[in-house]
Formats: sequence, structure tokens, C-alpha cells
Amino acid sequence: MSTPALMPVYPRCDVRPVRGEGCWLIGERGERYLDFAAGIAVNALGHGHPHITRTIADQAATLMHTSNLYGSPLGEKLAQRIVDHTFADTVFFTNSGVEAIECAIKTARRYHYVNGNPQRHKLITFKNAFHGRSIGAISATDQPKMRDGFEPLLPGFDYVKFNDLEGALAAIDGETAGFLVETVQGEGGMTAGTPEFITGLRKACDEHGLLLILDEIQCGYGRTGKFFAHEHYGITPDIMTVAKGIGNGFPLGACLATEEAAKGMVFGTHGSTYGGNPLAMAVGMAVLDVMLEDGFFERVEQMGDWLRAAFEQMIPNHDHLFDEIRGKGLMLGIKLKEPAVARDFVAHLRDNHGLLTVAAGENVFRVLPPLVIDESHIAECVERLSAGARSYAPLTDD
Ligand SMILES: *Cc1c(COP(=O)(O)O)cnc(C)c1O
Repeated sequence: MSTPALMPVYPRCDVRPVRGEGCWLIGERGERYLDFAAGIAVNALGHGHPHITRTIADQAATLMHTSNLYGSPLGEKLAQRIVDHTFADTVFFTNSGVEAIECAIKTARRYHYVNGNPQRHKLITFKNAFHGRSIGAISATDQPKMRDGFEPLLPGFDYVKFNDLEGALAAIDGETAGFLVETVQGEGGMTAGTPEFITGLRKACDEHGLLLILDEIQCGYGRTGKFFAHEHYGITPDIMTVAKGIGNGFPLGACLATEEAAKGMVFGTHGSTYGGNPLAMAVGMAVLDVMLEDGFFERVEQMGDWLRAAFEQMIPNHDHLFDEIRGKGLMLGIKLKEPAVARDFVAHLRDNHGLLTVAAGENVFRVLPPLVIDESHIAECVERLSAGARSYAPLTDD
């Protein structure tokens, strides 16, 4: 047996998309899939959005890459626009989510270092967390499936149960730098932080001089019906990581911070060759042109309410299969009852009903449509999902 040319780290399925049209993906044989996976919460504006594609074509012809040796008029513009609409005073652009996480961890450590407290290097993170696949990011989760075989990992992380405020407070010691937490856990099972938990972490940070790092790589950029998920909680972080929806599929991420939290990140402390190049910055601007239009987030919230209501109506009809709905806005998950298995059910919906969703932890499958869906897509999704629930036989299905 020979090794495939593509390193076989993914269990790739038989859907082989070659084209996208709005909320639909088209496969090699012309078959159409309703795309409620959206590239794992990335294609927020759907496929082939005219403003995004035109921007990419124009900017590619004008200036694609220069390196960070030179001034960046477009980078300054995008950073300013993000600063104007968030808690942040400053932004570092990356090419991916995990690089934003790396920047966040480094920013937090540097903050305490320049404050004269280099011993405060540890981040309290949470069970089932997902922060990406770098050595730093897999060190920040307790999930064995991501860590096994990669030891020794980076020291400086403590793991506490998600939504367990008491446990999180009890874990604070003289070496704690802060908390790193997803406002709404994605990969781990679509669990939203409770208001007590998220606001409690904020309060603890204020009391103990710690930094609150929110990972909004999946739940940010409009996904939950607000620009950022923490807006639901009435708090702001000190540092926040963003990616996925920020580039609508163009590789882009960002680490946002307050002036205070970022005070250690001075000349020479961090960098990236590609990060924030003109093409990425133009795409980032184009995404915001659409998202910051009046009513965009309200519409996401409305669609999220409708989709959830439709699911709530459907669930009692398939009592043996569906357990509960999780998540916020258009970041929804449905927990399955055993013996149904999320990964199998996702495959069943995909192969037999042309509906794309994503499996997550805790036997949940994720419903992450483009944020630009309308009622017709919701109706189509519910029809396919109901049909899938009727035809799914967990014990006999392959
Ligand atoms: C996807 C994701 C990441 C990692 O992003 P990459 O772009 O794959 O590196 C980190 N945190 C969360 C919450 C994510 O959903």
C-alpha cells in the first residue's frame, strides 16, 4: 500500500465539491448539496459572493503580497475598522485560527513579563476545548485525540470543566496569567458558556489582574447573531482570537487586544511573512462591507431563531433520535440519543439526503449554514433533516 500524495490525516468522504453557488455545493458528478457546514463556519457569506470574488480579482491584479517590511495602508484600514467596532485597540493579522491562538498566548505571557511577573505564565483552559492544532494549541486542550503521540507538550496550561466557574476560580494560583476560553464551544459539542460562567471569569480577571482571552474563531463574526458572541454576555475580553468567517474562505485570522493587554508586544516580539498581506486585507474589508451593513446581524439572529424554532418543532417527531438543541444564532447543534452516532448521522444526511452538516463532540452534529440563508434554505434543511431522521437506522446503517 502506498501513501497517498495528500497526507492521509483526514477521513475524507466521497463528496468532492468542484463548485459553490450561494448556500449550495456542487460535486464532481453535478450533484447538489445544501451546505449547512459552510466550510466549518467559514463561508459566512456563502459561495461565490460577488463582492468577495470581485475584490479578490481586483486586489490580486493590483497588489497581492509585499511582506511586513513595508507600510500597510490596507492593513491599517482593516485594523482601524475592527478597532472601531470592537473592544480592541490593536490587531495582529494571521493566516489561520491557530496562529491567532499562538499570538494570544504570547501576548498574555508578555503582558505579565513586562509587568515584572514572568512567573505568571499559565493559562486556565477548559475540557473539550478546541483551539487548533499547533503544539501550543493542543497543549491548551485536554482532548487526548489531539495530544496523543505529540508529547512533550508546552507546559503552562491547567484544565477545568467548561461552565464550572467554581472550578475555574479554584484553579487560580500565583502562576496564572489568565483564562483561554471559547465563548461558545464549537468542536467540543456546541455548548454556550452560561452567563454566570462568562461574566464570572471576567470578574475574576478584574479582581486578580488576569487576562481574559476569548477564542471566538468559530462563534465570532456574526455567527451567533451578534458581531461577537461575548456581546450576548455584556462583557468584553482583554484578548480575542478570530478567524473562520473573517475571510469567507480566504485564509485570514486575527488576534485582537486592548492597549493594556498588548503592551508587551513591541517591535520584534512577533511576526508573520504572509500575515495581513494586501490580498487578505482587501478580503477582510470586503467581508466587513457586507457584515457591517445595517441589519445584517439582526437578520442572522432572526434566521437563527427561525431555524431553532423549526428544529424544536421537528424534535418531538423523532424522539428516539434527537435529544436537545444547543448553541446560539446560526451556530446550532443537535445532540443525538444513543445508539445514534453523530458522525454516522452526518454521513447519512450527506450521502442520502444531500445535506451537509458537521460532527462535533458529545454526540452532537453541528448546523453551521452561511449567514446569508433565507427562509427557503431553512425549509429545505428541515425537510432534508426530517427525511434523514425517518430513514436513519442507527443499528443497521453501514
Ligand atoms: C477552527 C478553530 C480553531 C483553529 O482554527 P484554524 O484556522 O483551523 O487554525 C481554533 N479555535 C476554534 C474555536 C475553532 O473553531
